[in-house]
Amino acid sequence: MVNVSKNRCVGCGLCVDVCSQDAIVISIGIANIEKEKCVECQACLQECPQEAIMFIENMNLVVAFGTNDGNTLKSDHHVGMSKYFKVYQFSDGKEEFVEQRSNVKYKEDELKTHGDPGKAKATASALGNVDVLIGRMFGPNISRLRNKFICAVVRKDTIEEAIQTVHENINEIIEEKSKKDRRGIILK
Ligand code: SF4
Ligand code: SF4
Repeated sequence: MVNVSKNRCVGCGLCVDVCSQDAIVISIGIANIEKEKCVECQACLQECPQEAIMFIENMNLVVAFGTNDGNTLKSDHHVGMSKYFKVYQFSDGKEEFVEQRSNVKYKEDELKTHGDPGKAKATASALGNVDVLIGRMFGPNISRLRNKFICAVVRKDTIEEAIQTVHENINEIIEEKSKKDRRGIILK
């Protein structure tokens, strides 16, 4: 799939001019690609002065959202203290709910200090096959967690809003995944 980063696109329209399929429209200053028209020729990638367009092959990411109630992101503590992780599979511009996973060790973790390696291990064991961990905030263990997962802050209230934010930041997430020395990222 070919995807435009909303954080990089300045709306210049150069990609529109080069697209032989009329697959790109500028809306509210941002390029949007109509996926049903796009033939993935990648001509627009070369033309973009902002490097805002990315070709993503076989996009498949497992994304977990830290939550206490299943609907909103945990906001009163860091993501490792969430009661549950709501897990979704993101592929080719869509997401599918997989499961709500219990963070079974979050209660015993309350007894440990922030940044305790055991806490990071407990969080990692609950997350398993996850690629991306989404939370409103992370604790000191982010330096351990980011080696296993892409750790991303989303400052939205609901998981529904956070899902939309993930879709809008797929380019940034894929870029971070390929890095050796990852940092936590903020998705806008
Ligand atoms: S060329 Fe790049 S910056 Fe310009 S509108 Fe297209 S995606 Fe946006
Ligand atoms: S990849 Fe090709 S067909 Fe698709 S939007 Fe870009 S220029 Fe158009």
